[in-house]
Amino acid sequence: MTLNKSEILNTAQTFKKKLLLHVCCANCVLHPINILKEKFDITMFYYNPNIHPEQEYLKRLADVEKVSGFKKIPLITGDYKNDLEKWFKITENLKEEPEGGRRCIECFKIRLEKTASYAVKNGFDIFTTTLSISPHKNQKVINELGSEICKKTGIPFFCTDFKKQDGFKKTMKLSKELNIYRQNYCGCIYSIRK
Ligand code: SF4
Repeated sequence: MTLNKSEILNTAQTFKKKLLLHVCCANCVLHPINILKEKFDITMFYYNPNIHPEQEYLKRLADVEKVSGFKKIPLITGDYKNDLEKWFKITENLKEEPEGGRRCIECFKIRLEKTASYAVKNGFDIFTTTLSISPHKNQKVINELGSEICKKTGIPFFCTDFKKQDGFKKTMKLSKELNIYRQNYCGCIYSIRK
């Protein structure tokens, strides 16, 4: 039996590993999608109880939905209201930390743990996050957390540094082309610039 080109592509797609990609916002996901799509069958996971106020959370979600439709990549939305309190509780003694400090490590951990747990329960092969694309976020910390969570849960974490080779510049260029809303703070109430 000889397969035509589209059948070969469909077969290749079938054998790709199922990746659950934690998405922090629509700006940050565009370049990672371009990198990951050759190797993985991607599903996006928008889980960000760190984003305040809720209106801002919804604004960012609306653009992630836009990317999902445009790129034809499935999107799952994690809990927000139920997990807000948990987020504030875990970070309540870290309000004064600067961006990139200990509060952010806890914030990454909350989001990566939930992504891994969803991935395990729903038959994904591997998980990762868009977070490493930000110039304000340390990819070493993110990858170490992901690897620790992998040891606990058994699901592999795909280590990344999406900001390398001008990754951040590239994602912002794509975001401009799609007219994506660009926020001016990371997400939590403590990071809102005065
Ligand atoms: S600054 Fe960003 S990464 Fe750090 S705690 Fe706030 S939302 Fe999370």
